Order: sequence, then structure tokens, then C-alpha cells
Amino acid sequence: MRIICLSCGHKMEVDTAYDDFEGPIKCLCGAMLHIKTEEGKLKEIHLETHERETCATTEHTGQ
Ligand SMILES: [Zn+2]
Repeated sequence: MRIICLSCGHKMEVDTAYDDFEGPIKCLCGAMLHIKTEEGKLKEIHLETHERETCATTEHTGQ
């Protein structure tokens, strides 16, 4: 099954483990998508909007 990221448009190929699934998946772009599938068909998809803000602050401690 193919899932298209709502944020970046990336097409994600997911295996049959997701044929009957509801929950979040993470795209390469870092967006969390909440999907619901049934019998291998995508029923719902939306961006997780209530996620914690990911502060990817990589502090470079002096080397
Ligand atoms: Zn994406």
C-alpha cells in the first residue's frame, strides 16, 4: 500500500503489517501522519497536529 505524506508529498510504501492499522507513522520529512487502514485500503489520513514540538537543537559542545 502506498501512503502519500500530506506534508511533503513523499510516497511511502508500507507493507502488509499496515493493511489493518490505525495509528501514527512518521515520514522521512519528520511529519507525523495519523492513518487508518482497513483491508489494505486507506480510510483516513491526517497530519498529527498535536504532536510535541520537536526541538532538534544539536548542541555542539566544543571539541
Ligand atoms: Zn513527508
